[in-house]
Amino acid sequence: MTKLMNIARKHCANFDVGKCMGCVFIRTDKGLFFKLEKKLTGRSCSVDKGCDYFETVVMPGIINNNTTRR
Ligand code: SF4
Repeated sequence: MTKLMNIARKHCANFDVGKCMGCVFIRTDKGLFFKLEKKLTGRSCSVDKGCDYFETVVMPGIINNNTTRR
């Protein structure tokens, strides 16, 4: 398992035994919403090829959480 895949396994709520559940959050001027992203749902985790959700939601959450614990 690659380092990125291991981070996704531990911290991404979509990670399910190597598969992606594909539930992504979207913020608009009307609020915060979630949807099932067809290009992710039920497919193997693609974090090693690049995943927008991982980069824009999961990693900032980890970094923010580590910063506030100090
Ligand atoms: S593809 Fe992205 S959203 Fe899906 S499990 Fe992997 S890191 Fe999480």
